[in-house]
Amino acid sequence: MRVLLRCPRRPRSRRGDPLLGARALWAYARLCADSLLYNSFTNWDVVLDSLFEPIYWLVDHVTRWFGVVFVVMVIFLTSTIVLIVYVCVLPVIVRTYSAGWITWHLGYGHWNLLLIVFHYYKAVTSSPGYPPQEKTDVPMASICRKCIAPKPARTHHCSICNQCILKMDHHCPWLNNCVGHFNHRYFFSFCLSMTLGCVYCSVSSRQLFTEAFNAIDLNNLKLFLGIEKRRHWLTRVLLPSSHPPHGDGLTWKLPQSLETERTVLAI
Ligand SMILES: [Zn+2]
Ligand SMILES: [Zn+2]
Repeated sequence: MRVLLRCPRRPRSRRGDPLLGARALWAYARLCADSLLYNSFTNWDVVLDSLFEPIYWLVDHVTRWFGVVFVVMVIFLTSTIVLIVYVCVLPVIVRTYSAGWITWHLGYGHWNLLLIVFHYYKAVTSSPGYPPQEKTDVPMASICRKCIAPKPARTHHCSICNQCILKMDHHCPWLNNCVGHFNHRYFFSFCLSMTLGCVYCSVSSRQLFTEAFNAIDLNNLKLFLGIEKRRHWLTRVLLPSSHPPHGDGLTWKLPQSLETERTVLAI
């Protein structure tokens, strides 16, 4: 308290030495700040944690409230890919392959889809597992500072669910659920079957991809990137370049077959 009372007083300094006065003032200010804020548990980790607290709060709340949106996005994106496979890829498979291969594609594709849907549904709807509320003989590893309750080994507190989770892996926004002891296998199997599905779709639709790639006129790409000489691949594509685009943007050249004398306005 004595230090605080002395704080507003101007510190004594030798006349004609403003630097010394400023140093003394700075020392008083630090002493006052240390006296007010001193805590034996305070260190730089606590300070950094406190500074990042608003960001943690924002991330927790955004993840909590947008969880449903993420789940809808997973369902929408997966359904879109399934629809594309039925409408675009399956006719190509039926046209191209023999009866045996068509049967294999139909069997594998639907089995993979079943695995994805089942494991995603179970991962979303299964409870990850919580520590028991009532008294038990199971030895507890520590006390959760948020729940103020004992927690078993490998249990962690999820700040988004605001609960302790048994063998917590992480909180998954794409499931809007925590991944813990009772839904870990469903989550892993979902990731595995989804990866297999992506590989299957990519391999099955490679013919469509090749056709689309072959339809690209490489000259158009060169024109777009501004490649007139071979070294331009390096100087204009791989290195930062501020060269202007081709043409003036007002008139456009038609393909050779349709080219006439008239000027065509860009659409
Ligand atoms: Zn807890
Ligand atoms: Zn959680």
